[in-house]
Amino acid sequence: LTIGVPREVFPGEKRVATVPDVVEKLIKLGFSVAVESGAGDAANFSDDTYRAAGAQIVNDAATLWATSDIVFKVRGPSAEEVGLMREGGTLVSFIWPAQNPELLKQLAAKRATVLAIDSLPRTLSRAQKMDALTSQAGVAGYRAVIEAANAFGRFFSGQVTAAGKIPPAKVFIAGAGVAGLAAIGTAAGLGAIVRANDTRAEVADQVVSLGGEFVKVDYEEEGSGGGGYAKVMSEGFQQAQREMYAKQAKEVDIIITTALIPGKPAPKLITADMVKSMKPGSVIVDMAAEQGGNCELTEPGQAVVKHGVTIVGYTDLVSRLSKQSSTLYANNLLRLTEELCKTKDGTINVNMEDGAIRGLTVIKDGEVTWPPPAPKLP
Ligand code: NAD
Repeated sequence: LTIGVPREVFPGEKRVATVPDVVEKLIKLGFSVAVESGAGDAANFSDDTYRAAGAQIVNDAATLWATSDIVFKVRGPSAEEVGLMREGGTLVSFIWPAQNPELLKQLAAKRATVLAIDSLPRTLSRAQKMDALTSQAGVAGYRAVIEAANAFGRFFSGQVTAAGKIPPAKVFIAGAGVAGLAAIGTAAGLGAIVRANDTRAEVADQVVSLGGEFVKVDYEEEGSGGGGYAKVMSEGFQQAQREMYAKQAKEVDIIITTALIPGKPAPKLITADMVKSMKPGSVIVDMAAEQGGNCELTEPGQAVVKHGVTIVGYTDLVSRLSKQSSTLYANNLLRLTEELCKTKDGTINVNMEDGAIRGLTVIKDGEVTWPPPAPKLP
């Protein structure tokens, strides 16, 4: 079968769904690989590097879609792209089925089979190698620290120099999921003093193992909702959390917020008053900007200065490190392909008896199979 990789069409999207190293491995699994000309340009992978890896370069999107049995993409397809898709073809990309019922309908009408990489059951340990939400959140967390360092006027590490003693920067991370933990490791690696908070107490050990200090909210309430994710906390907890965050805002130089609750707007954790209380020259990077922001003063997509504090609300942190994020994403899809093609003969078997594959298959041969049945209790 032929795996096709179109150029991403979403404005500002710089990632690409496969990279030359992975092309070679897909070919070893028995597939032919076709890449649209220019697909890797924004991630610094030229047509020539794909060609050297064995891919065929196709000049236009229409031909690419028409000749591909399986399409690998990053973003879910636009309506125009669905129109180009082959009847009965297979698509692997982010889909977010709960938010995009219309897209599901359009793809089902094409009798497609659609594997939504965002719908992978993340708690299965054998699914980790395919977990693109994790790989991409890790890149975003790293990049958030780089953006903070770029906007901050001082070193992160403390130094004793002939010109004087420099204190280390203090960084507070709100939310210690995948992105927050990556940010903790990166900021600690640069030499900052790092503190972090999460409503899920179970992450405290991971914060410490990455070089951070876990700061507790003085209020007993378990923060885990379903599937390892957070829930909306009680008003009492939120009040106690605001008091703790207000204290941190006065003390630290940099705040990176990553807090999200599935299916809800991002919790507002940093108020305008807290921003006002920060030292001039401080920086906030709000990684939840796209979901409404964790900070009241965030402007999604922008970096703004308010009360002397730079508030970075970029929504394209992953695309700002497109070579890295594309490479990790391509590897996630390679691992998925290995699961689909155990025979290594260039064919795929979408095995609905396999828990990981069942979870991410949102359409099978034109039939919508999302949401999957609840997992059987042991
Ligand atoms: P996410 O992006 O949905 O949320 C980011 C973080 O914000 C979470 O840690 C959440 O607890 C935290 N948060 C939410 N509300 C908050 C608040 N009011 N104050 C402070 N923090 C708040 O989560 P994610 O990073 O995608 O993943 C969350 C969890 O999913 C993981 O930490 C893990 O438990 C689970 N997961 C499991 C696996 C696996 O088992 N293989 C893989 C990936 C993720």
